[in-house]
Amino acid sequence: MNRRELPIFELENSLVSALRQHSRLVLQAPTGSGKSTQVPQIVLDQGLAGDGEIVVLQPRRLATRMLAARVAHERSVRLGDEVGYQIRLDKVISARTRIRFVTEGVLLRQMLSDPKLRGVSVIVFDEFHERHLYGDITLARALDLQETLRPDLKLVVMSATLDAGSLQKYLAPCELLTSRGRTFPVDIEYLDKSLGDLPVWDAAADAFETLARESDGDVLVFMPGSYEIQRTIQAIKHTRAGGQCVVLPLHGELPAGDQDAAVARYDQRKVIVSTNVAETSLTIEGVRLVIDSGQAKIARFDPYRGINTLLVERISRASADQRAGRAGRTAPGRCLRLWTEREHQDRAAQELPEVKRLDLAEVVLTLKASDVEDVAAFRWLEPPDARGLERALTLLTDLGALDSVGSITPLGRRMLAFPAHPRYARMLLAAHELGCVRPVALIAALTQGRNLLRRAEGKQMQEDRESLLGENAESDFFTLMRAHRFAEQRNFNPQACRPLGINAIAAREAAALTDQFLRIAKDEDLNIESGNVTDEALQRCVLAGFPDMVAMRLDSGTLRCALVHARRGVLARESVVSTPLLVASEVREVEIRGEVETLLTLATAIREEWLRELFPDGFAETAEVYFDATLRRVLAKRQTRFRDLVLHAEQSDKVPAEQAAALLAREVEAGTCPLKNWDNAVDQWILRLNQLANWYPEFELPKIGDDDRRMLVEQICLGATSYKDIKERQVWPTVKSWLSPAQQDLLEKYAPERIELPNGRKAKITYDTKAAPTIATRIQDLYGVDTEIRIGGNRVPVVIQVLAPNHRPIQITSNLATFWKDSYPKIKQELQRKYPRHEWR
Ligand code: ADP
Ligand code: MG
Repeated sequence: MNRRELPIFELENSLVSALRQHSRLVLQAPTGSGKSTQVPQIVLDQGLAGDGEIVVLQPRRLATRMLAARVAHERSVRLGDEVGYQIRLDKVISARTRIRFVTEGVLLRQMLSDPKLRGVSVIVFDEFHERHLYGDITLARALDLQETLRPDLKLVVMSATLDAGSLQKYLAPCELLTSRGRTFPVDIEYLDKSLGDLPVWDAAADAFETLARESDGDVLVFMPGSYEIQRTIQAIKHTRAGGQCVVLPLHGELPAGDQDAAVARYDQRKVIVSTNVAETSLTIEGVRLVIDSGQAKIARFDPYRGINTLLVERISRASADQRAGRAGRTAPGRCLRLWTEREHQDRAAQELPEVKRLDLAEVVLTLKASDVEDVAAFRWLEPPDARGLERALTLLTDLGALDSVGSITPLGRRMLAFPAHPRYARMLLAAHELGCVRPVALIAALTQGRNLLRRAEGKQMQEDRESLLGENAESDFFTLMRAHRFAEQRNFNPQACRPLGINAIAAREAAALTDQFLRIAKDEDLNIESGNVTDEALQRCVLAGFPDMVAMRLDSGTLRCALVHARRGVLARESVVSTPLLVASEVREVEIRGEVETLLTLATAIREEWLRELFPDGFAETAEVYFDATLRRVLAKRQTRFRDLVLHAEQSDKVPAEQAAALLAREVEAGTCPLKNWDNAVDQWILRLNQLANWYPEFELPKIGDDDRRMLVEQICLGATSYKDIKERQVWPTVKSWLSPAQQDLLEKYAPERIELPNGRKAKITYDTKAAPTIATRIQDLYGVDTEIRIGGNRVPVVIQVLAPNHRPIQITSNLATFWKDSYPKIKQELQRKYPRHEWR
């Protein structure tokens, strides 16, 4: 087929003029229209790139390489000349390259070293509907660049399906071009009943056996990963129909030659068993039948482990429709879904964009390295959740990649050189120092994926396991590593692994992942040959990658732990670790007997000195002095903390005297430790002083306010550390010393404690902040008093409570003259009758 017959050429003219006008363009057309292969060529041939480069961003390495090869072939040039590609560990480009296919991370990294992207004229974002984190970020950075240093830069965003509305708004001003392409109808069928226990590869082979006989054309089978693909190929080859076909795998880990073989043409009928690269990224011609497992490996953030995982999950309805569409490229087709129609309705309509489901630590670090200080204010197409962002910042700070003000550190820059999650970058860097990259890569792999070890069932399994895997008190990883070795030595044979509760598939996946980590490490020039590796070196590396999971046993009797960042948890009972200080590589919330517990698993023993070496700034010594309410005593506590986690605390009663006195005084004031000798007379003395200071400002007497009072109490408590010490202490000497002897004389004279009445009785005066001074005295004591009683150098009248012989008040007055004249005669008679033996004048 002439490439100019592809549907995308219907849009060629509008594409060229739109891009000339706006420098931004959204292009939507179905898979197979010619977006990936033709648009870069149109841009180049129409002179839209000047003499600069056209960079095409791809989400997958496999598609990147194959598209470059295809375009080079169409233009009859050698790959690496006019057309080239660049992926993480491989690049085929030259100074002559004008169209460069790259994976998404490559361009962002290039922006780090060359913020102006010199020589790049056009950036094409392909498969944008998949909404990968790096695609989102790179687009945002490209928009920034276009609006500042590079107004001449042109951006094309392409997609098979698209929520074009919001994207167009984000890119405004920007043109949207759509093509419906050319597709044929596809018949979609479902299973009658769920797969149940039947392995998905067997189900696919069964379906193939029936359907292949009823239809013609090539077959495309979707499986989640390379392992499932291998099993499917074997199963299909064993069917009768499969015997006459070429059956080929297609996935990212294949050697280039095998990848090419999958898309080549054959005389025989072709069956391709592929991951979701064939969903939209690659079009395979001639496919009339699609068998879909409905599964894919989906990257997701696991908050329990604080890492990104890649697990097999059910794809969304939108993805399933894309897969089905692969059968209708050249003629009407069929698609069988290996799930029921009812199950289909339960699937998500669409995948969440990665920005909402992945850990952001790595991109936040990249943004920080590009001088984006305020990551929350970044121009996100769709902002991440605030919690996700916060979490990333905390982790990066914990790892030492960011400093206390949130700027990237030299260590952070070194970590960024690793195309891996910062936790593993940190772990591998530590492993390089300690000469244990290989085993640490395995540890890193074991923290991902599915569980390697099932909980031991029954005594037999428990014993077999212990005798084979041994017991070790240093790390749960060591048990896992031995289990892994066990599985590896038996070629990951499920039968051999099952009796010990080892998941052979998980072990196989961990092995593959280890190789991936080792490739990265090697690529970054780490020494991956390890000599004699000590347990300690491995434990230190685990700590380096999980410093936010440091935990401390709260006591020796239980499994309760405190974790950094003010969390609490319970160490899993099956953990082998018994040291007080540990790192938990998994922290998950589980429900135990109706209560939510935070369970710490995959523990590793650590030592404080390692913490100090790795995170010298994370340590603080605090001395806290506090009042122990039960002992009623002031105690001192010295604490050593790692971040907010108390590593140890020492108690003593060696407390600085002032601090102890202040704490005791606070208890005295609060009434919990009353001073026996601080009686009413003391309070009255203070009141007298304060009143007198009001009446005679000219005396310049020092009033006693709340603070002064506290100071006095502190002075009384000085030298004591417990309530027992102060309970009986003398109060008067301290309180009175507040005034000089001369001032004390003034006080006795102007605000006396008592006043002498004509009959010689000394009546006590009650002082009060809110009322006038008062005396309460029996009527007989007042005979002969017929004026006001005054104190304060005659300035202050005293209120008199006149009491009956039974000490009941019969009158309150400050003017006795009126009392004698008006009230007294009336009450006198009655009192006389009641109390005949008293004197009545
Ligand atoms: P889109 O990106 O719109 O899905 P592509 O540009 O990838 O479309 O592909 C357009 C067409 O080019 C495909 O339908 C197919 O016919 C052809 N094509 C693309 N890549 C290859 C290849 N490697 N080998 C053979 N044909 C290919
Ligand atoms: Mg494409």
